[in-house]
Amino acid sequence: MANHHPAPELLTAFSAGSLQLSHALCVSTHLERCDECRANLMRLNSMGAKMMEDLKPARASEDLKSSVLAMLDDAPKEEPAVINRDSRIPRALQQFIPDDYDSLQWHHVSPSIQAAKLVTDSNGSKVEMLRIKPGGQVPSHTHTGDEYTLLLEGSFSDESGIYKEGDFVVRDGRHKHKPMVTEDKECICLTVTDAPIEFTGFFTRWLNPILRRDHFAH
Ligand SMILES: [Zn+2]
Repeated sequence: MANHHPAPELLTAFSAGSLQLSHALCVSTHLERCDECRANLMRLNSMGAKMMEDLKPARASEDLKSSVLAMLDDAPKEEPAVINRDSRIPRALQQFIPDDYDSLQWHHVSPSIQAAKLVTDSNGSKVEMLRIKPGGQVPSHTHTGDEYTLLLEGSFSDESGIYKEGDFVVRDGRHKHKPMVTEDKECICLTVTDAPIEFTGFFTRWLNPILRRDHFAH
């Protein structure tokens, strides 16, 4: 079970439908695996529905009702036939990863890290998968924008603690971190970056122009 969850403001924005799509994708992937956040979301949605009902009786509450139903795991709903409930791929990501992680176009970022781009949001945020070998280390870096990470498989640690499957981590320019994957298993993450990360170590600074070029090239 996840120990790190989207902040209440983020869940509220998700409930209100005001999150950018790439961030909403990250939040909904977390929700698939987190009973606690799903319960909080239901509360937020019903509060929102109540407020909307007071404002605009019929239409708004119907819209909210259908969006609540669409988000709930157990609610009766029609799903497109392509959704595979037994897959290791979260349902929210299956539109981008129809088969398995192996079928993605991975490229090496370092000997222990591979990345595969899923999609770029309309505002330029990049949604990527990262696959890091057991014991692999991401060079020390900071962020020029927000970085959302959802840990799908494996675990990693950084200066702030240890993160496990389902954990939702947000980092921004105030954080400088050096994540290290645990030795037992490879780590697979979904990441959304608003702007390229900046490596801060002396030997890795030369990578920054390459990362910036990659970020804006797609
Ligand atoms: Zn949660």
